[in-house]
Amino acid sequence: MSERALIQSIRRRADGGSGGRGIGDDCAVLRIPPGQEALITADFSLEGVHFRREWHPPDAVGHRCLTRGLSDIAAMGGTPRAAFLSLALPAELPQAWVDRFIAGLLKLAARFSVTLAGGDTAQSPAGVLADIVVLGSVPAGQAILRSGAKLGDFIYVTGTLGSAIADLNRLRDGEKLRPKLHPKHFYPEPRVAVGQFLREKRLASAMIDISDGLSTDLGHICEESRTGAVVQAESLPAISGKDGLTFALHGGDEYELLFTAHPKHRIPKQIAGVPITRIGEITRGRQMKLVRADGTKEVLKPGGWEHFG
Ligand code: ADP
Ligand code: MG
Repeated sequence: MSERALIQSIRRRADGGSGGRGIGDDCAVLRIPPGQEALITADFSLEGVHFRREWHPPDAVGHRCLTRGLSDIAAMGGTPRAAFLSLALPAELPQAWVDRFIAGLLKLAARFSVTLAGGDTAQSPAGVLADIVVLGSVPAGQAILRSGAKLGDFIYVTGTLGSAIADLNRLRDGEKLRPKLHPKHFYPEPRVAVGQFLREKRLASAMIDISDGLSTDLGHICEESRTGAVVQAESLPAISGKDGLTFALHGGDEYELLFTAHPKHRIPKQIAGVPITRIGEITRGRQMKLVRADGTKEVLKPGGWEHFG
């Protein structure tokens, strides 16, 4: 399919309900609700780095591609509004692959009322390259930043940790996984409603989404907030198994939210159907520490899982 025909087919399938003009002009023209600020995030999904065509069905690649952007908007407490997709596709890529990729992306977009409002299309010399830009909005001055954590704040995480990396390791070991049975890896759910709830109720002092692993992403909160942190190993909502703790601490691609809150705030056990677990506390200094089940304390170094090359 030619570039023009491909854009036409994407345009037909993308929803036009952006309150403005999307695909078909030199720029999309979008309206941001009055009193709100724009949130903008960009994320690559690269074949061989973030996914493999032999492991990941095309609709899952499209879903994960958009999840990366929606999860960033969620982490600011924002509402996603429009997405822009820049695609570089190898000439030999089957048209059916592209169709299913777009279908997976648009299905997730529709669930969050996000319009695919533009992008770019080119031929790739090697592998599928997809860059997703998501535009969101948040009431002015209310975005939840990484830099807001204060000494004594409690640290919380949504959902469970570790299954995305556990599934990746099984794929690496040559196992075939049925995507529908492993939604955490193949169809991760961006925690948009949780982020919005925390922002509306003004509960979170700092927030980040776990894309590179808890230890690395908590490190980002500590760095930006100029604090340290202590994490209770026993409290982590880790998957079972001998590697459960390691996976929970360092596994990437989780798309769970990690946030801090003043100890006087009562944080619900569940928000928008997602369990919330208290895992530690913000401390003085710049170091992160891990307290093991037996009470021993050690330094926690950012050890986020590398992507698979
Ligand atoms: P220009 O050359 O002016 O950048 P293009 O011909 O590349 O315009 O794109 C035409 C229209 O199609 C634009 O509105 C652009 O945003 C949209 N578009 C191009 N590629 C994609 C894509 N992969 N996904 C969604 N929209 C796209
Ligand atoms: Mg262009």
